Amino acid sequence: MGEPNKQATIALMPGDGIGLEVMAEAEKVLRFLRDQDDLPLSWEVLDWPSTAWHQQHGRMMPEDAMDQVRQYDALLLGALGDPGPLSDPDRYCLPDGISLAPLLSFRKGLDLWACERPARLLPGAPRYLADPRAADIDMLVIRENSEGEYVNQGGRLGQGTPHEVATQLEVFTRRGTERLIRHAFRAARLRLREHGDARSFYCSEKGQAAAQVCLITKRNAQPAWGELYTEVFAEVAREFPEIGLRHELVDAACMKFVQCPWEFDVVVASNLHGDILTDLAAMLSGGLGLAPSCNINPDSREAPALFEPTHGSAPDIAGQGKANPAAMLLTTAMMLTYLGHSASAERLRAAVAADLVASEGQVRTCSEVTAGIVEHLRA
Ligand code: ATP
Ligand code: MG
Repeated sequence: MGEPNKQATIALMPGDGIGLEVMAEAEKVLRFLRDQDDLPLSWEVLDWPSTAWHQQHGRMMPEDAMDQVRQYDALLLGALGDPGPLSDPDRYCLPDGISLAPLLSFRKGLDLWACERPARLLPGAPRYLADPRAADIDMLVIRENSEGEYVNQGGRLGQGTPHEVATQLEVFTRRGTERLIRHAFRAARLRLREHGDARSFYCSEKGQAAAQVCLITKRNAQPAWGELYTEVFAEVAREFPEIGLRHELVDAACMKFVQCPWEFDVVVASNLHGDILTDLAAMLSGGLGLAPSCNINPDSREAPALFEPTHGSAPDIAGQGKANPAAMLLTTAMMLTYLGHSASAERLRAAVAADLVASEGQVRTCSEVTAGIVEHLRA
Protein backbone atom coordinates (compact mmCIF):
# COMPACT_ATOMS: atom_id res chain seq x y z
CA MET A 1 0.00 0.00 0.00
CA GLY A 2 1.36 3.42 -0.92
CA GLU A 3 1.34 6.50 1.29
CA PRO A 4 -1.92 8.40 0.69
CA ASN A 5 -0.40 11.84 1.23
CA LYS A 6 2.61 11.42 -0.99
CA GLN A 7 2.51 13.16 -4.35
CA ALA A 8 2.51 10.45 -7.03
CA THR A 9 3.21 10.74 -10.73
CA ILE A 10 1.72 8.25 -13.14
CA ALA A 11 2.69 7.44 -16.71
CA LEU A 12 -0.35 6.90 -18.92
CA MET A 13 0.64 4.77 -21.93
CA PRO A 14 -2.38 4.35 -24.24
CA GLY A 15 -0.57 2.03 -26.67
CA ASP A 16 -2.53 0.65 -29.62
CA GLY A 17 -6.07 -0.03 -30.82
CA ILE A 18 -8.74 0.27 -28.14
CA GLY A 19 -5.95 1.08 -25.68
CA LEU A 20 -6.15 4.66 -26.96
CA GLU A 21 -9.91 4.80 -26.44
CA VAL A 22 -10.07 3.28 -22.98
CA MET A 23 -7.11 5.36 -21.79
CA ALA A 24 -8.92 8.56 -22.75
CA GLU A 25 -11.78 7.41 -20.48
CA ALA A 26 -9.39 6.51 -17.64
CA GLU A 27 -7.89 9.98 -17.83
CA LYS A 28 -11.36 11.58 -17.53
CA VAL A 29 -12.09 9.50 -14.45
CA LEU A 30 -8.68 10.16 -12.90
CA ARG A 31 -9.19 13.88 -13.38
CA PHE A 32 -12.64 13.67 -11.83
CA LEU A 33 -11.45 11.67 -8.79
CA ARG A 34 -8.35 13.81 -8.31
CA ASP A 35 -10.50 16.95 -8.17
CA GLN A 36 -13.36 15.47 -6.15
CA ASP A 37 -11.25 13.56 -3.61
CA ASP A 38 -8.32 15.98 -3.62
CA LEU A 39 -5.84 13.26 -4.54
CA PRO A 40 -2.15 14.22 -4.75
CA LEU A 41 -1.82 12.78 -8.25
CA SER A 42 -0.36 14.00 -11.50
CA TRP A 43 0.30 12.18 -14.74
CA GLU A 44 1.97 12.38 -18.10
CA VAL A 45 0.71 10.76 -21.28
CA LEU A 46 3.41 8.86 -23.21
CA ASP A 47 2.84 7.90 -26.82
CA TRP A 48 5.06 4.85 -26.40
CA PRO A 49 5.29 1.90 -26.34
CA SER A 50 3.08 1.72 -29.39
CA THR A 51 2.93 0.79 -33.03
CA ALA A 52 2.47 4.47 -33.92
CA TRP A 53 5.79 5.25 -32.24
CA HIS A 54 7.30 2.35 -34.17
CA GLN A 55 6.09 3.76 -37.46
CA GLN A 56 7.80 7.07 -36.69
CA HIS A 57 10.96 5.89 -34.98
CA GLY A 58 11.48 2.32 -36.13
CA ARG A 59 11.14 0.93 -32.62
CA MET A 60 8.36 0.47 -30.08
CA MET A 61 9.80 2.83 -27.48
CA PRO A 62 12.83 5.06 -26.84
CA GLU A 63 16.17 3.44 -26.12
CA ASP A 64 16.19 4.77 -22.57
CA ALA A 65 12.52 3.83 -21.99
CA MET A 66 13.29 1.68 -18.96
CA ASP A 67 15.16 4.54 -17.27
CA GLN A 68 12.35 6.93 -18.09
CA VAL A 69 9.57 4.75 -16.68
CA ARG A 70 11.48 4.17 -13.44
CA GLN A 71 10.83 7.82 -12.56
CA TYR A 72 7.10 7.23 -12.19
CA ASP A 73 5.22 5.81 -9.22
CA ALA A 74 2.90 3.71 -11.37
CA LEU A 75 2.42 2.85 -15.03
CA LEU A 76 -1.02 2.56 -16.59
CA LEU A 77 -1.04 0.86 -19.99
CA GLY A 78 -3.96 0.66 -22.45
CA ALA A 79 -3.02 -2.21 -24.73
CA LEU A 80 -0.27 -3.21 -27.09
CA GLY A 81 -0.88 -5.05 -30.29
CA ASP A 82 -1.18 -5.03 -34.00
CA PRO A 83 -3.81 -2.51 -35.06
CA GLY A 84 -4.22 -3.98 -38.57
CA PRO A 85 -7.67 -5.00 -39.85
CA LEU A 86 -8.92 -8.45 -38.89
CA SER A 87 -9.63 -9.28 -42.53
CA ASP A 88 -5.94 -9.09 -43.32
CA PRO A 89 -4.70 -12.70 -43.52
CA ASP A 90 -1.23 -11.53 -42.47
CA ARG A 91 -2.57 -9.88 -39.34
CA TYR A 92 -1.00 -12.44 -37.08
CA CYS A 93 2.40 -11.99 -38.70
CA LEU A 94 3.50 -8.82 -36.99
CA PRO A 95 5.64 -6.55 -39.18
CA ASP A 96 9.31 -6.64 -38.28
CA GLY A 97 10.01 -4.98 -34.99
CA ILE A 98 6.38 -4.51 -33.92
CA SER A 99 5.89 -6.74 -30.96
CA LEU A 100 4.63 -7.21 -27.46
CA ALA A 101 8.28 -7.24 -26.32
CA PRO A 102 7.96 -3.93 -24.44
CA LEU A 103 5.46 -5.58 -22.14
CA LEU A 104 7.88 -8.37 -21.36
CA SER A 105 10.73 -5.87 -20.90
CA PHE A 106 8.64 -3.93 -18.39
CA ARG A 107 7.66 -7.05 -16.46
CA LYS A 108 11.21 -8.40 -16.43
CA GLY A 109 13.16 -5.13 -16.32
CA LEU A 110 11.10 -3.73 -13.45
CA ASP A 111 11.06 -7.15 -11.72
CA LEU A 112 7.25 -7.24 -11.58
CA TRP A 113 7.15 -10.92 -10.75
CA ALA A 114 3.49 -11.32 -9.82
CA CYS A 115 0.44 -10.72 -11.95
CA GLU A 116 -2.87 -10.30 -10.15
CA ARG A 117 -6.19 -10.74 -11.89
CA PRO A 118 -9.32 -10.56 -9.80
CA ALA A 119 -12.43 -12.18 -11.31
CA ARG A 120 -15.69 -11.27 -9.68
CA LEU A 121 -19.08 -11.54 -11.34
CA LEU A 122 -20.83 -8.24 -10.69
CA PRO A 123 -24.62 -8.03 -10.89
CA GLY A 124 -25.60 -6.77 -14.35
CA ALA A 125 -22.43 -8.12 -16.02
CA PRO A 126 -22.73 -10.46 -19.00
CA ARG A 127 -23.19 -14.00 -17.69
CA TYR A 128 -21.89 -17.01 -19.51
CA LEU A 129 -23.00 -19.51 -16.84
CA ALA A 130 -26.69 -20.07 -16.19
CA ASP A 131 -26.24 -21.54 -12.69
CA PRO A 132 -27.49 -19.01 -10.10
CA ARG A 133 -24.44 -19.77 -7.92
CA ALA A 134 -22.39 -17.95 -10.56
CA ALA A 135 -23.37 -14.79 -8.69
CA ASP A 136 -20.85 -15.91 -6.05
CA ILE A 137 -17.86 -15.97 -8.43
CA ASP A 138 -15.19 -13.96 -6.67
CA MET A 139 -11.66 -15.17 -7.13
CA LEU A 140 -8.18 -13.74 -7.40
CA VAL A 141 -5.80 -15.47 -9.77
CA ILE A 142 -2.14 -14.82 -9.02
CA ARG A 143 0.18 -15.68 -11.83
CA GLU A 144 3.94 -16.06 -11.80
CA ASN A 145 5.33 -13.44 -14.15
CA SER A 146 9.09 -13.91 -14.35
CA GLU A 147 10.13 -17.51 -14.95
CA GLY A 148 8.62 -20.95 -15.55
CA GLU A 149 7.45 -21.77 -19.04
CA TYR A 150 8.18 -18.30 -20.44
CA VAL A 151 11.96 -18.10 -19.93
CA ASN A 152 12.29 -18.39 -23.70
CA GLN A 153 15.18 -20.84 -23.72
CA GLY A 154 15.19 -23.50 -26.38
CA GLY A 155 15.52 -23.92 -30.06
CA ARG A 156 14.86 -25.88 -33.20
CA LEU A 157 17.28 -28.54 -34.31
CA GLY A 158 17.26 -29.63 -37.93
CA GLN A 159 14.76 -26.92 -38.82
CA GLY A 160 12.52 -27.91 -41.75
CA THR A 161 13.83 -31.48 -41.93
CA PRO A 162 11.64 -34.51 -41.18
CA HIS A 163 13.75 -35.08 -38.08
CA GLU A 164 13.29 -31.61 -36.67
CA VAL A 165 13.19 -31.33 -32.89
CA ALA A 166 12.00 -28.25 -31.04
CA THR A 167 12.84 -27.82 -27.37
CA GLN A 168 11.51 -25.27 -24.91
CA LEU A 169 13.05 -25.11 -21.48
CA GLU A 170 11.02 -24.36 -18.34
CA VAL A 171 12.83 -22.97 -15.30
CA PHE A 172 11.35 -22.82 -11.80
CA THR A 173 13.46 -21.57 -8.90
CA ARG A 174 12.77 -22.16 -5.21
CA ARG A 175 13.13 -18.42 -4.60
CA GLY A 176 10.65 -17.57 -7.35
CA THR A 177 8.22 -20.23 -6.16
CA GLU A 178 8.41 -19.31 -2.50
CA ARG A 179 7.82 -15.59 -2.98
CA LEU A 180 4.90 -16.29 -5.33
CA ILE A 181 3.19 -18.72 -2.98
CA ARG A 182 3.76 -16.56 0.10
CA HIS A 183 2.23 -13.63 -1.77
CA ALA A 184 -0.84 -15.77 -2.58
CA PHE A 185 -1.31 -16.66 1.10
CA ARG A 186 -0.90 -13.03 2.13
CA ALA A 187 -3.52 -12.05 -0.45
CA ALA A 188 -5.89 -14.71 0.93
CA ARG A 189 -5.35 -13.39 4.47
CA LEU A 190 -6.10 -9.85 3.30
CA ARG A 191 -9.27 -10.99 1.51
CA LEU A 192 -10.36 -12.85 4.64
CA ARG A 193 -9.95 -9.65 6.66
CA GLU A 194 -11.78 -7.59 4.06
CA HIS A 195 -14.66 -9.98 3.38
CA GLY A 196 -14.85 -11.40 6.90
CA ASP A 197 -17.77 -13.68 7.60
CA ALA A 198 -19.96 -11.90 5.06
CA ARG A 199 -18.23 -13.73 2.26
CA SER A 200 -20.60 -16.21 0.65
CA PHE A 201 -17.81 -18.65 0.12
CA TYR A 202 -18.83 -22.28 0.01
CA CYS A 203 -16.17 -23.44 2.45
CA SER A 204 -17.61 -21.42 5.30
CA GLU A 205 -20.95 -23.19 4.84
CA LYS A 206 -19.15 -26.45 5.39
CA GLY A 207 -17.56 -25.07 8.50
CA GLN A 208 -14.15 -24.95 6.85
CA ALA A 209 -11.79 -22.07 6.33
CA ALA A 210 -13.48 -19.01 4.85
CA ALA A 211 -10.41 -18.27 2.78
CA GLN A 212 -8.49 -20.65 0.62
CA VAL A 213 -5.47 -20.85 -1.65
CA CYS A 214 -5.66 -23.28 -4.53
CA LEU A 215 -2.35 -24.36 -6.02
CA ILE A 216 -2.32 -25.25 -9.72
CA THR A 217 0.25 -27.65 -11.17
CA LYS A 218 0.51 -30.51 -13.63
CA ARG A 219 2.37 -32.59 -11.09
CA ASN A 220 1.39 -35.93 -12.59
CA ALA A 221 3.00 -35.13 -15.96
CA GLN A 222 5.59 -32.52 -14.97
CA PRO A 223 6.83 -33.83 -11.63
CA ALA A 224 10.02 -31.77 -11.30
CA TRP A 225 8.45 -28.38 -10.86
CA GLY A 226 5.15 -29.89 -9.72
CA GLU A 227 6.86 -31.35 -6.68
CA LEU A 228 8.83 -28.18 -5.99
CA TYR A 229 5.59 -26.16 -6.03
CA THR A 230 3.79 -28.72 -3.85
CA GLU A 231 6.61 -28.85 -1.31
CA VAL A 232 6.94 -25.07 -1.04
CA PHE A 233 3.15 -24.73 -0.85
CA ALA A 234 3.04 -27.06 2.17
CA GLU A 235 5.94 -25.22 3.87
CA VAL A 236 4.52 -21.73 3.39
CA ALA A 237 0.99 -22.88 4.34
CA ARG A 238 2.20 -23.53 7.91
CA GLU A 239 2.57 -19.75 8.37
CA PHE A 240 -1.12 -19.29 7.50
CA PRO A 241 -3.13 -21.77 9.59
CA GLU A 242 -6.40 -19.89 9.03
CA ILE A 243 -6.23 -20.36 5.25
CA GLY A 244 -7.70 -23.50 3.64
CA LEU A 245 -5.59 -25.46 1.16
CA ARG A 246 -6.45 -26.95 -2.18
CA HIS A 247 -4.43 -28.39 -5.03
CA GLU A 248 -5.79 -28.91 -8.56
CA LEU A 249 -4.12 -30.21 -11.68
CA VAL A 250 -4.47 -27.55 -14.36
CA ASP A 251 -6.75 -29.67 -16.58
CA ALA A 252 -9.11 -30.38 -13.69
CA ALA A 253 -8.96 -26.71 -12.71
CA CYS A 254 -10.13 -25.68 -16.21
CA MET A 255 -13.08 -28.04 -15.86
CA LYS A 256 -13.94 -26.79 -12.36
CA PHE A 257 -13.57 -23.14 -13.38
CA VAL A 258 -16.58 -23.79 -15.62
CA GLN A 259 -18.38 -26.34 -13.41
CA CYS A 260 -18.11 -24.60 -10.02
CA PRO A 261 -16.01 -21.41 -10.23
CA TRP A 262 -17.65 -20.08 -7.05
CA GLU A 263 -15.63 -22.67 -5.12
CA PHE A 264 -12.34 -20.85 -5.79
CA ASP A 265 -10.88 -18.03 -3.72
CA VAL A 266 -7.19 -17.28 -4.34
CA VAL A 267 -5.66 -19.34 -7.14
CA VAL A 268 -1.89 -19.44 -7.60
CA ALA A 269 -0.41 -20.65 -10.87
CA SER A 270 2.71 -20.72 -13.00
CA ASN A 271 3.28 -18.30 -15.87
CA LEU A 272 1.65 -20.46 -18.59
CA HIS A 273 -1.11 -21.96 -16.46
CA GLY A 274 -1.93 -18.53 -15.04
CA ASP A 275 -2.04 -17.03 -18.52
CA ILE A 276 -4.64 -19.55 -19.63
CA LEU A 277 -6.68 -19.63 -16.43
CA THR A 278 -6.96 -15.85 -16.24
CA ASP A 279 -8.54 -15.62 -19.69
CA LEU A 280 -11.01 -18.27 -18.61
CA ALA A 281 -11.67 -16.47 -15.33
CA ALA A 282 -12.20 -13.21 -17.24
CA MET A 283 -14.99 -14.79 -19.25
CA LEU A 284 -16.60 -16.20 -16.10
CA SER A 285 -16.74 -12.74 -14.61
CA GLY A 286 -18.31 -10.87 -17.50
CA GLY A 287 -15.74 -10.95 -20.29
CA LEU A 288 -12.65 -9.01 -21.29
CA GLY A 289 -14.53 -5.71 -21.15
CA LEU A 290 -14.60 -6.07 -17.36
CA ALA A 291 -11.31 -7.77 -16.50
CA PRO A 292 -8.63 -5.73 -14.69
CA SER A 293 -5.03 -6.76 -14.10
CA CYS A 294 -1.78 -5.60 -12.58
CA ASN A 295 1.88 -6.59 -12.60
CA ILE A 296 3.58 -5.93 -9.30
CA ASN A 297 6.60 -6.64 -7.16
CA PRO A 298 4.94 -7.23 -3.78
CA ASP A 299 8.33 -6.99 -2.01
CA SER A 300 9.55 -3.70 -3.38
CA ARG A 301 8.47 -0.22 -4.41
CA GLU A 302 11.78 0.59 -6.07
CA ALA A 303 10.27 0.28 -9.52
CA PRO A 304 6.71 1.28 -10.51
CA ALA A 305 4.04 -1.39 -10.86
CA LEU A 306 2.34 -1.80 -14.24
CA PHE A 307 -1.45 -1.77 -14.48
CA GLU A 308 -3.19 -2.94 -17.66
CA PRO A 309 -6.59 -4.40 -18.48
CA THR A 310 -6.52 -8.11 -19.37
CA HIS A 311 -7.74 -7.39 -22.88
CA GLY A 312 -5.50 -6.57 -25.82
CA SER A 313 -5.77 -3.94 -28.53
CA ALA A 314 -8.92 -5.60 -30.01
CA PRO A 315 -8.35 -4.53 -33.64
CA ASP A 316 -11.78 -5.88 -34.60
CA ILE A 317 -13.52 -3.08 -32.71
CA ALA A 318 -10.80 -0.41 -32.52
CA GLY A 319 -11.74 3.11 -33.53
CA GLN A 320 -15.49 2.40 -33.43
CA GLY A 321 -16.27 3.55 -29.90
CA LYS A 322 -17.41 0.04 -29.04
CA ALA A 323 -14.78 -0.83 -26.42
CA ASN A 324 -16.01 -1.19 -22.87
CA PRO A 325 -13.82 1.08 -20.70
CA ALA A 326 -14.88 -0.74 -17.49
CA ALA A 327 -11.87 -3.12 -17.55
CA MET A 328 -9.57 -0.11 -17.75
CA LEU A 329 -11.47 1.72 -15.01
CA LEU A 330 -11.35 -1.31 -12.68
CA THR A 331 -7.62 -1.47 -13.48
CA THR A 332 -7.36 2.22 -12.56
CA ALA A 333 -9.04 1.35 -9.25
CA MET A 334 -6.37 -1.29 -8.59
CA MET A 335 -3.72 1.37 -9.28
CA LEU A 336 -5.39 3.82 -6.88
CA THR A 337 -5.35 1.17 -4.13
CA TYR A 338 -1.65 0.57 -4.84
CA LEU A 339 -0.98 4.31 -4.53
CA GLY A 340 -2.70 4.40 -1.14
CA HIS A 341 -6.07 5.79 -2.25
CA SER A 342 -8.25 2.84 -1.23
CA ALA A 343 -11.36 4.90 -0.51
CA SER A 344 -11.35 6.48 -3.99
CA ALA A 345 -10.61 3.07 -5.52
CA GLU A 346 -13.55 1.55 -3.69
CA ARG A 347 -15.83 4.37 -4.83
CA LEU A 348 -14.75 3.83 -8.42
CA ARG A 349 -15.41 0.07 -8.16
CA ALA A 350 -18.82 0.75 -6.65
CA ALA A 351 -19.63 3.25 -9.43
CA VAL A 352 -18.68 0.69 -12.11
CA ALA A 353 -20.88 -1.90 -10.35
CA ALA A 354 -23.82 0.50 -9.97
CA ASP A 355 -23.56 1.54 -13.61
CA LEU A 356 -23.62 -2.10 -14.74
CA VAL A 357 -26.93 -2.67 -12.99
CA ALA A 358 -28.42 0.64 -14.14
CA SER A 359 -27.47 0.09 -17.78
CA GLU A 360 -28.22 -3.62 -18.14
CA GLY A 361 -29.32 -4.43 -21.69
CA GLN A 362 -28.32 -1.05 -23.12
CA VAL A 363 -25.85 -0.68 -25.97
CA ARG A 364 -23.60 2.29 -25.27
CA THR A 365 -20.46 3.81 -26.67
CA CYS A 366 -17.18 3.82 -24.79
CA SER A 367 -17.61 7.41 -23.58
CA GLU A 368 -21.29 6.89 -22.70
CA VAL A 369 -20.25 4.11 -20.32
CA THR A 370 -17.75 6.46 -18.66
CA ALA A 371 -20.36 9.21 -18.44
CA GLY A 372 -22.68 6.76 -16.65
CA ILE A 373 -19.93 5.76 -14.22
CA VAL A 374 -19.02 9.38 -13.51
CA GLU A 375 -22.70 10.09 -12.74
CA HIS A 376 -22.56 7.40 -10.05
CA LEU A 377 -19.32 8.90 -8.70
CA ARG A 378 -20.98 12.27 -8.51
CA ALA A 379 -24.04 10.89 -6.70
P1 ATP B 1 -4.31 -8.46 -29.09
O1 ATP B 1 -3.53 -9.19 -30.11
O2 ATP B 1 -3.90 -7.03 -28.92
O3 ATP B 1 -4.45 -9.20 -27.78
P2 ATP B 1 -6.83 -9.59 -29.80
O4 ATP B 1 -7.27 -9.72 -31.22
O5 ATP B 1 -6.34 -10.81 -29.08
O6 ATP B 1 -5.78 -8.41 -29.68
P3 ATP B 1 -8.27 -8.82 -27.51
O7 ATP B 1 -8.11 -7.41 -27.18
O8 ATP B 1 -7.49 -9.79 -26.72
O9 ATP B 1 -8.04 -9.00 -29.05
O10 ATP B 1 -9.84 -9.13 -27.47
C1 ATP B 1 -10.41 -10.38 -27.81
C2 ATP B 1 -11.88 -10.17 -28.12
O11 ATP B 1 -12.57 -9.54 -27.01
C3 ATP B 1 -12.08 -9.27 -29.31
O12 ATP B 1 -13.05 -9.85 -30.16
C4 ATP B 1 -12.61 -7.98 -28.78
O13 ATP B 1 -13.58 -7.41 -29.61
C5 ATP B 1 -13.19 -8.32 -27.41
N1 ATP B 1 -12.82 -7.28 -26.44
C6 ATP B 1 -11.62 -7.12 -25.86
N2 ATP B 1 -11.61 -6.07 -25.05
C7 ATP B 1 -12.83 -5.52 -25.10
C8 ATP B 1 -13.44 -4.38 -24.47
N3 ATP B 1 -12.77 -3.59 -23.61
N4 ATP B 1 -14.71 -4.12 -24.77
C9 ATP B 1 -15.39 -4.90 -25.61
N5 ATP B 1 -14.89 -5.98 -26.23
C10 ATP B 1 -13.62 -6.29 -25.99
MG1 MG C 1 -5.57 -11.00 -27.00
